[in-house]
Amino acid sequence: MLSLDEARAAILARVRPADRIEHIALAHGLGRTLAGVLAAVVDNPAFDNSAMDGYAMAHADLAAHSFTLPVAGESSCGSAPQRLAPGTAMRIFTGAPLPAGADTVVMQEEVAREGDSARFPQDTPRGDCVRHRGEDFRAGDTLSEPGRRLGAWDLALLSAAGVAELPVYARPRVLVVATGDELVAPGQPLAPGQIYESNRLPTLLQLEALGADAVDGGTVGDDPQALRALLEQSTDFDFVVTSGGASVGDHDLVKQVFAEIGEINFWKARIKPGKPVAFGRAGSRTHFFALPGNPVSSLVTFKLFVEPALIAWHHGRHTDMLLPATVVNAFKRKPGRMEFLRARLWSEGGELKAECLKGQGSHMLGPIRQANGFIRIGEDSAGFAAGERVSVIPL
Ligand code: AMP
Ligand code: MG
Repeated sequence: MLSLDEARAAILARVRPADRIEHIALAHGLGRTLAGVLAAVVDNPAFDNSAMDGYAMAHADLAAHSFTLPVAGESSCGSAPQRLAPGTAMRIFTGAPLPAGADTVVMQEEVAREGDSARFPQDTPRGDCVRHRGEDFRAGDTLSEPGRRLGAWDLALLSAAGVAELPVYARPRVLVVATGDELVAPGQPLAPGQIYESNRLPTLLQLEALGADAVDGGTVGDDPQALRALLEQSTDFDFVVTSGGASVGDHDLVKQVFAEIGEINFWKARIKPGKPVAFGRAGSRTHFFALPGNPVSSLVTFKLFVEPALIAWHHGRHTDMLLPATVVNAFKRKPGRMEFLRARLWSEGGELKAECLKGQGSHMLGPIRQANGFIRIGEDSAGFAAGERVSVIPL
């Protein structure tokens, strides 16, 4: 059985990265992954401008005119001002171009207006309150590299830089299927022995957030024929993600059907929850994940395996945000597997704290009410005492 790191390495070694590139409008860039280098079209700031509402002047004129200058002209946002007349100050507003001849701005709160003149403080530094052209970035500077998944903040940067179109990897098509004779959609009445299906929706939504075109394959019963029929279309997909039927029970058929259509690279990892997880590939395009059916196992294995695989497919690099924290309660267990405990994380007095939530069974979704991260325990650990340092991963 593979460790988490071994299982991930096995996956990353077999991911066939995207090669289809498309060009999209900036406004459609959220969650997409860049397929090329993006360079700034303009300098930022585009011109020297004022950081404050106030008055612009040549610094040398201040002392030369006893710190009092007549006010002439105005520079407001969106138009080019006249040249500053020597020995005068110009009214100016935040973001407005600094007039030629000026090198300093004094904010209006520090200025005393006396009719058509203005009196300035004697300690004004030269160059104060001026934002210089190109001090943020210059036209031609690299703003983003291939493999970066774009968030709203990236789109702010690219907008400011004048980038209107993005080269991105075409969305991976991902088929999502739940398996189990007992599963019923929420909203339907439950017959004896039936339960509500809760794995497909979060899987579809998390895939969409990763930039995928997630296709709902619905729920199939524990019937190899039905699953085979569904997975016959798998060559049209870059990934197939199933839940349930991946364990060792008589009705666990996913692995069997995957073995018929492709090659299974591993089945089972030394993690808890989520031991019965399988990964493989079919043909030159399709990657498949058989995730366990227990709802918590399905969520955790998605995070641990599917997300890094999707990122790698997009030419990106995944990293776990592992942080030290002090745990406030004890947890005992049998060593052997790396374990991910749902936890509540918060900061207190500049220190990260963690509470291991009650109800860690892989069928128990209740702790999600409070969970905002995991406590990660190493394979050899027998747990922790209250007050100990642990490793956590915020979600
Ligand atoms: P399995 O992996 O098929 O052996 O299922 C393990 C446990 O998870 C069983 O208790 C199933 O009823 C439950 N389960 C499987 N799939 C789902 C699902 N999609 N939604 C909710 N529970 C599920
Ligand atoms: Mg099942």
